[in-house]
Amino acid sequence: MDAFWHYARGMLRYRRTLVLALAFAFVSASGLGAGLVAVQSVLELILSEDQDLPGLLTRANEQGIAEGRVPTWLIEAAPPGQFTAVAIIVGGLGVLTVIGAAANFLHQYLALTAVFRTMANLRRRAFYRVLRMPLGKIVQDGASNAISRIVMDTAAVSAGFSALVSKGVAQASKGLAAFIAALVLNPVLSAVSVVVAAVLYTVIRRLGKTIRRASKGALGHQQALYASTTEALQGLRVVKAYTAERYEAGRFHKSNKLAMKEMMRLRTARALASPLVEMITLLAIGFLVLVAVKAILDGHMRTESFMATLIALGAAGASLKPLTGLINDIQQSAGAAERIKELLDQPDEPGHERGLAKLARHHESIAFERVTFTYPGAEEAAVRGVDLIVRRGETVAIVGPNGSGKSTLLALVARLYDPDEGRVLVDGVDIREVSVRSLRAQIGVVTQETVLFRGSIRSNIAYGAGGATDERVRAAAAQARAAEFIERLPRGYETEVGEQGLTLSGGQRQRIAIARAMLRDPAILILDEATSMIDADSEQKIGEAMGEFSRGRTCLVVAHRLSTVMNADRIVVMDRGAIVDVGRHEDLLERCAVYRTIARHQLIGGGFVDEGASAGGA
Ligand code: ADP
Ligand code: MG
Repeated sequence: MDAFWHYARGMLRYRRTLVLALAFAFVSASGLGAGLVAVQSVLELILSEDQDLPGLLTRANEQGIAEGRVPTWLIEAAPPGQFTAVAIIVGGLGVLTVIGAAANFLHQYLALTAVFRTMANLRRRAFYRVLRMPLGKIVQDGASNAISRIVMDTAAVSAGFSALVSKGVAQASKGLAAFIAALVLNPVLSAVSVVVAAVLYTVIRRLGKTIRRASKGALGHQQALYASTTEALQGLRVVKAYTAERYEAGRFHKSNKLAMKEMMRLRTARALASPLVEMITLLAIGFLVLVAVKAILDGHMRTESFMATLIALGAAGASLKPLTGLINDIQQSAGAAERIKELLDQPDEPGHERGLAKLARHHESIAFERVTFTYPGAEEAAVRGVDLIVRRGETVAIVGPNGSGKSTLLALVARLYDPDEGRVLVDGVDIREVSVRSLRAQIGVVTQETVLFRGSIRSNIAYGAGGATDERVRAAAAQARAAEFIERLPRGYETEVGEQGLTLSGGQRQRIAIARAMLRDPAILILDEATSMIDADSEQKIGEAMGEFSRGRTCLVVAHRLSTVMNADRIVVMDRGAIVDVGRHEDLLERCAVYRTIARHQLIGGGFVDEGASAGGA
């Protein structure tokens, strides 16, 4: 529960709104209380013959809580007549009702304002936290884990907030007012009902605990369900191509069943809550009626007093009963609050601490010193004992079989992961000693899977370079040979891409990503199979552009085309995480067996897999 109350306290940011909301709840409840006390007079008017307002006021002046407090002028001014009296009292109740309803509306309105604002804050914090988490953590836990916490758990928590300050306060204050009215009308009957309420409370608390425990489990399974659903739908193309529908359906069925089982654990407690409370209430009322009828028959109590008290107690019960549901709501959202807390308690990825020095514009070298890195949970190191110095302005091609650690090595430069052993240095500075922002700001990355965001092509090229002018965007697009196809689109740079937008070919997407990297004017360029999806023709053009662009920049390139590899200043050959050789094409062909195999079988335009006349520019 702690986490829930912690976040509920976040609502105190809107203290003034909440105080105002409470004030309106109080007005609304007072209206109800006053109305209930008036019921006794109405009953008296109806039940007794020839009673009227002056008579009622005189009587009130002689006994009860108003004893001696009704001024004589009021009694004299009150109009006579039984119907007039009823009409005036009913009219008064009508006015009270309207005021109460208006106050009720204002209370809910203000309270929900505070609730939704608090939820939005919580979401913003959670999303920001996820952005700042180490990449490895997200990769390990799965993105859907974070998504469901940010989107669904926050909604569940806000349902709890709303139960607390909106419905909760409204019902509790009304219940309290009605109970005070009952107390005024008949203290003894009211006292007995308190005992009943205490019993009810105990029962509800018991059930609430069970519900909370089960709801945390249920949310976990719902998340697994969400994960397997998104996965299957995102990969629907593959699912269909491999006719894996049955397999996916089976997987879904499994997690669906688990989620259902947890919901079933909730079922008993939820289903039991309301009937149990109703039963105890009704039995208690029966008992009260017996006691009261005895008192009336013995002449200790007046009928209208008994009836009015019963109505007031009924109103109190009716107002307090929804609170049982609300307590359950709060218990449920406590489970969600704990999951949000787990997320918010995650540490920042390193490199964002205040006071870290900024990395000056890269001007000398990038160095790996005996770098070893193993992915969390992996058995073998993805990169082991890598020693390499790349001078500024140099283009180094990295080749190696699939899974040999090329991408991982490049990821270490941008500090997406930290090495377990050894250091990565830029210009002689360990990159762990400078702010990660200043490091990444100097790096342009294009990878095989290009990520485009919802928005225009323009905003995708300008991504991460907020204030880029139209001119610079166009220049970058031209340089990346993307301008040609963009300008053929009806809406040009304003064309929307992303989920429901334009579908671009892999090559077109990569060219946009290349333009994005170029726009940043990076000192360090990292290309990880950046042109793998681009056809040979365009690639040759881009190759030229890249040649120009890479001048004066340090480039680390994982390439799959022989021409690109041969144009590099040096070639680094990796195998199973380690560097096995470094050199130029001819020398490596001669002395490095791994390179020979790669050059012949893996690189396009090399040896036996020659695609045609272009021969990779060899
Ligand atoms: P390459 O780019 O040369 O194909 P990678 O650097 O992508 O190779 O991968 C190196 C090794 O690390 C492979 O064995 C791969 O399975 C593993 N690996 C890559 N990414 C992860 C990850 N996020 N978690 C665990 N292991 C990974
Ligand atoms: Mg790779």
